[in-house]
Amino acid sequence: MTIENYICPSCNSPGLSVFYKAKNVPVNSCMMFSSHADAVNFPRGDVLLGFCKSCGFISNVAFDPSKLDYSSLAPEEQGFSATFNTYAQRLATRLIQTYDLRNKNISEIGCGRGDFLALLCELGNNYGVGIDPSTVSGGVESKASDRMIFIRDYYSDRYAKHLGDFICCRHTLEHIPNTADFVTSVRSAITTNNTYVFFEVPDVSRILHEVAFWDIYYEHCSYFNSGSLARLFRFCNFEVTNLMKDYFDQYLLIEAKPVSHVSSRIKGNEESIEATAKSVELFATSCQNKLDHWKNQLKRIKTERKRAIVWGSGSKCVAFMTTLGVEDEIEYIVDINPNRHGKFIPGVGKQIMPPEFLKQYKPNTVIVMNPVYCSEIKQELEKMGIEAELIPCL
Ligand SMILES: [Zn+2]
Repeated sequence: MTIENYICPSCNSPGLSVFYKAKNVPVNSCMMFSSHADAVNFPRGDVLLGFCKSCGFISNVAFDPSKLDYSSLAPEEQGFSATFNTYAQRLATRLIQTYDLRNKNISEIGCGRGDFLALLCELGNNYGVGIDPSTVSGGVESKASDRMIFIRDYYSDRYAKHLGDFICCRHTLEHIPNTADFVTSVRSAITTNNTYVFFEVPDVSRILHEVAFWDIYYEHCSYFNSGSLARLFRFCNFEVTNLMKDYFDQYLLIEAKPVSHVSSRIKGNEESIEATAKSVELFATSCQNKLDHWKNQLKRIKTERKRAIVWGSGSKCVAFMTTLGVEDEIEYIVDINPNRHGKFIPGVGKQIMPPEFLKQYKPNTVIVMNPVYCSEIKQELEKMGIEAELIPCL
């Protein structure tokens, strides 16, 4: 199905073809609730993924930004995993070395609590400005606290003067429907040629190849691969200086500098529009098989009367459970983040428990939402003397 009158927000071309639908999914899969009733009654919306044949961009054409209010949320934290912390350290060190970020002014749009900004300020003796609708001053403990300020708001042109020598924006662009407007607004704020920007987003090529329907959420309205991301930055008068994948190929990283015209420099690793179109088609044809595979797994859990839990209570878990319509096959979710314990996830309304809960629950089956944490989880289970079958979400 092609929606002829829908204008691509990344390249302004008309016509997006819809290739995936997930109806009635929670509008924010990061949320958690104190009561089961609030969790199941949380507002829902539809996901209708459309593909732009002109630039390769993928967008939820049914997205309604008025359904989401990030200012009422607690800032997101991912800092409880050793694997993730090691990645953030390595990334901050590389950016400091590459862009000589020492005694500089660094800004981060969508900084959350400010953990990454703090890392850049600590490691390079930098000064930081963090802008995020959910951020709070003093939210992150840091030796660089007196060199950082936090602005609790959505980024807009009124904060242009706060953007410094280096602009970071991680895991934010995928939440923004009007992608070109946003990147253009950042571009307009830059007044010197040597101000570089660094953006990080999830890589949709992996989601398409792995048919990872659990990585498609309502609040992610914009999906990029290396090609569509680079094309967007060129469209908004940036020259792409580095384009790479990292974090087990799950994230796409782009570094770019401002130019006064549309750059013709194309990186060798940009995925072509033709290749993206093929991946989109493959996803569309394989998705039902993937859903059937998981529905059979759930049926097996039920008929064999296994005690199954899901490890990881974040967005992946919410999308996985909602899309599959999980009922009593899985009773609990386990998470290492203590702030989530006892809470309920939106949609199916299952409760989040600490890992220690498993000592008494003794699960037979552990579904691991993010396979990169498999070895961490295996060690945890062994320490508790639990023998369970680990099924990574693949
Ligand atoms: Zn487009």
